[in-house]
Amino acid sequence: MPELISHDGDGGIAHCSRCGAVAVGPCARCRAPICGDCCVLTEGGASTWAICLACDDRGGRTLGGAWRGLVLWLVGILVVLLALVVGLGLLAR
Ligand SMILES: [Zn+2]
Ligand SMILES: [Zn+2]
Repeated sequence: MPELISHDGDGGIAHCSRCGAVAVGPCARCRAPICGDCCVLTEGGASTWAICLACDDRGGRTLGGAWRGLVLWLVGILVVLLALVVGLGLLAR
């Protein structure tokens, strides 16, 4: 899982925010370093994310906030497209 490998390159090794073991990567939600034992994999659309157990307790295993944002974004695009179609229709008259 290459996305779990830290690319800090500063020589410092991140330690898990929960148990202090060497962290394998940041939590997808709170960015806290977590080890393999303290994270859960969650499905957030096309890719799988690792989130810490604290975030798992707080919000379940879905990236709800991110999905809500995506839906709002898509609705916004649809509204803009609808406005364009209506505008073009008025111009064509
Ligand atoms: Zn840990
Ligand atoms: Zn977290």
